[in-house]
Amino acid sequence: MALLQISEPGQTDAPHQHRFAAGIDLGTTNSLVATVRSGQVDVLEDSQGHTLLPSTVRYTASRIIVGEDAKAAEIQDPLNTISSVKRLMGRSKAELSQADGHFSYQFNETDSAVPKIKTAKGDVTAIEVSAEILKNLAQRAEQTLGDKLSGVVITVPAYFDENQRQATKDAATLAGLNVYRLLNEPTAAAVAYGLDSEAEGIHAIYDLGGGTFDISILRLNKGIFEVLATGGNSALGGDDFDHVIANWIQTQAQITELTPPLEKQILSQARLAKEALTNIENTEIQLNLAEQQKHISLNIGTLNTLLTPLVKKTLIACRKTLRDAGISTDEIIDLVMVGGSTRVPLVRQMVGTFFNLEPLVSIDPDKVVAIGAAQQADILAGNQNDRDLLLLDVIPLSLGIETMGGLTEKIIHRNTTIPVARAQEFTTFKDGQTAMKVHIVQGERELVKDCRSLAHFELRGIPPMVAGAARIQVTYAVDADGLLHVEAEELTQHIKSSIDVKPSYGLTDDEVANMLAKSIEYAEADIQQRQLRELQVDAMRVIEALHSALHEDGEKLLDASERRRIDQALNELTTIAEKDNSQAIEKQIKHLEKTCEFYVERRMNNSVQHAMAGHKLDEFEE
Ligand code: ADP
Ligand code: MG
Repeated sequence: MALLQISEPGQTDAPHQHRFAAGIDLGTTNSLVATVRSGQVDVLEDSQGHTLLPSTVRYTASRIIVGEDAKAAEIQDPLNTISSVKRLMGRSKAELSQADGHFSYQFNETDSAVPKIKTAKGDVTAIEVSAEILKNLAQRAEQTLGDKLSGVVITVPAYFDENQRQATKDAATLAGLNVYRLLNEPTAAAVAYGLDSEAEGIHAIYDLGGGTFDISILRLNKGIFEVLATGGNSALGGDDFDHVIANWIQTQAQITELTPPLEKQILSQARLAKEALTNIENTEIQLNLAEQQKHISLNIGTLNTLLTPLVKKTLIACRKTLRDAGISTDEIIDLVMVGGSTRVPLVRQMVGTFFNLEPLVSIDPDKVVAIGAAQQADILAGNQNDRDLLLLDVIPLSLGIETMGGLTEKIIHRNTTIPVARAQEFTTFKDGQTAMKVHIVQGERELVKDCRSLAHFELRGIPPMVAGAARIQVTYAVDADGLLHVEAEELTQHIKSSIDVKPSYGLTDDEVANMLAKSIEYAEADIQQRQLRELQVDAMRVIEALHSALHEDGEKLLDASERRRIDQALNELTTIAEKDNSQAIEKQIKHLEKTCEFYVERRMNNSVQHAMAGHKLDEFEE
């Protein structure tokens, strides 16, 4: 995925009208909202002065409670208090069973492909829970700004696939928000530091949050951020720090029996101690046990010893990601720290040493993603006329073309960043063919009938040539808004024809998910089908070429018995080619080729050559 700099269409109305826009960091643990006011980015507070909104929603029979109050009820009401819902976004039930992480809430065993969480207020999906968080943040923004939001930018992890992105967009729609754009979290952080206007180069974004660790390697090239690689660990974060410290506390306090409330108390003390040790060297942990109070002191040295193995784990993931990107640490020019857990001094130290760079920490690591998102939102709202913007989008399903035999040839693969243009050359199937049909399809499957048909158009006026001699270049170009433009050009005469298509138009999320699921499910059968179809096309091509050759010089070059032998082999192949038997077709093609060897040689001597190779497009039938 890459980020591309383009200017947004439709930004030409009233020049002095300021539109209110916000950036939202929809996190696994915490979420935030920020906005640009008088050229200044502010992370907005709730009425109690909190900027972080815990990404927790509690459903009671009569109410939906979001944030701090919901989180406070986690022990008392674990089944109805939903947190870490980001892990479920865009995931099917099947994927969930393999997903790491455990959930305190329960799922309803319905037929629905989307996991449904049981609550006192009925079943809810991850999208609905996220929508509650988004609504709460939007309300906060609208109360602070005193006006309606015209649009928002919501951040997502760089590795989020199309389903997860779509689920995030759906949550926003459900919350009544207009989404200008989804933005990759590491890109938002890079933007907040102004790296987009800096020298070109490679940047590492290290994001250690509550329950997840993400490392992203971005390359800034001609004002475009390109994601070279992403990696990390979806089950490693500040919560694990808390657990390690809690275990230590338990040992120190000689606690052998843990009740759920005591466990919760120790965990929350562990977290407080960890956060306190960001600024001080030593802290006092106080435990209220049934019969007594216990005081335990924890110093930074002990904390570092406890956390070192976990930080090392993140570095192993960094090393692997750098390897994937084919990058060595000395090629990286900036190291951006993101996520609450990067406040831990040991993290900054070890990560800085690993990359051999002074980490960028001047912007609050909790807020940096929301800040970058707010800046992008402000530009997208049209409030900064002179600024270019960053744009991100990928193609959800591959775009291909129908080739002979009802097969698809992928021209642009799924997950390719847009804008993109790819060209491929094709040729004619029959001698003298003057028209060609271009059928544009979308999907992952091998056969056209299993993909979605997007459009057809024709290229006419191809100069008559022998089969395989014409060179037709087909170019697929998808612009920044996802609009597909397909052009076919005959390269000797420069005859062109083209069409515009909106590829994802009308394709629902479920349809996309379904098509992807099927392409995986049927992969093996599809390959066999493809082989069969390819052989059938080969057979037809051989038959066609032979017919045309015989018509041209069969009389001249062959005597009656030679002609009979060839005709017989030709007829056999014609019959066999219609049957679904790859082996028989392959055998018969070989047999026919062998039978014709002497004839081909004679023709060559007559210097008549027929090209018989290459991909062929279906001939246009008038
Ligand atoms: P996410 O992106 O996963 O929603 P955040 O970036 O908000 O999460 O990070 C939350 C984590 O940051 C929590 O585990 C929290 O304990 C930790 N954290 C916040 N402040 C500090 C601090 N001063 N020292 C250490 N950890 C901190
Ligand atoms: Mg985060």
